[in-house]
Amino acid sequence: MNIPFDFHNHSTQSPDGENSAEEMVLRAIELGMKHYTLTDHLEINKFFDEEFLYEEPVRQSSVILPALKEKYKDRISLQYGVELGQPLHDMELTNRMLDSYNYDFIIGSCHMVRGYDDFYFLDYTEIDPQFLLGIYFEELLEMAEWGQFDSLGHLTYPLRYIVGDKKIPVDMEPYRNIIDEIFRTIIKNDMGIEINTSGLRQNIGKTLPDFEYVKRYRDLGGKILTIGSDAHCCADLGKGIAEGIEIAKSAGFTEIACFKARNPHFIKI
Ligand SMILES: [Zn+2]
Ligand SMILES: [Zn+2]
Repeated sequence: MNIPFDFHNHSTQSPDGENSAEEMVLRAIELGMKHYTLTDHLEINKFFDEEFLYEEPVRQSSVILPALKEKYKDRISLQYGVELGQPLHDMELTNRMLDSYNYDFIIGSCHMVRGYDDFYFLDYTEIDPQFLLGIYFEELLEMAEWGQFDSLGHLTYPLRYIVGDKKIPVDMEPYRNIIDEIFRTIIKNDMGIEINTSGLRQNIGKTLPDFEYVKRYRDLGGKILTIGSDAHCCADLGKGIAEGIEIAKSAGFTEIACFKARNPHFIKI
C-alpha cells in the first residue's frame, strides 16, 4: 500500500536530521505520497546555541523548500513546515521567526520545560517525573492559549523517555483535567493535534499520543488531526502512518488535515 502522506519529519536542516531536504522529498515520492510536509526543528530556546545555530539553516529552508515545491510540483504536493519548539521561551524571537517566513504548517512542540533540559537528557532519579509532567502540561496549555501554531506536536512526548526508556510507571490520572483543557483550547482556537508515530519504533511502542487521547480529543469536538512519522532520515519516512490512520479512524475521524499556507485542507481516510 502506498503511504498517502507524512506531516512531521526532519532533514539535515535540523541538528539531528540525516538526509537532505531533497533526499527526503525524493523518498516521499518513492513511497507514493501525494501530500508531504517537511517540518525541520526551530528550537526557540536553543536558537543561539553554538553547537547548532538556527539562523542560517532556517533562512536556507525558506529558499530550499519553495524551490523543491516548484521542482517536484508534478510529482508531489510539497508543503513547507516547521516544528516550533518552546515558542514561549523567547517571544521576541518567536514573533520574528513567525513574521519572517511563509510557512505552510507550524507544529507547536515542547521538548523541554522552562528551567530544565530536554526530557531526553533528564535524570528521573533526581527529578520527580510526576512533577515534571505537571509543569509540562501547564506549558502546553499556555502554548494552546497563545495559539500561533497549527498542530500540537506529540502530546505525550515525555512518556517516550520516562515510561519507554526508563521504565518508570506514571499515573496520568492527575492530568486528565488539564489535558481536556488543552484540547478545548486547541479546538476553540481552530488548531489541531497530531498523531506522532515515532513511538511505534521506540521503546514506548505506542503513538504519541495514543488512541485514548485521540478519542478524547475527538469526543470533545476535535476535527483537525495531522499524522507524522517524525522521521529523521529517509529510511523512517512514512513509518507508522498506516497505523496512525487506523487509530484516527477508530477514534471517529474520517479525514486528516494537510496544512497549506496555514490553512487546513482535509484528506479523506
Ligand atoms: Zn518533537
Ligand atoms: Zn520532530
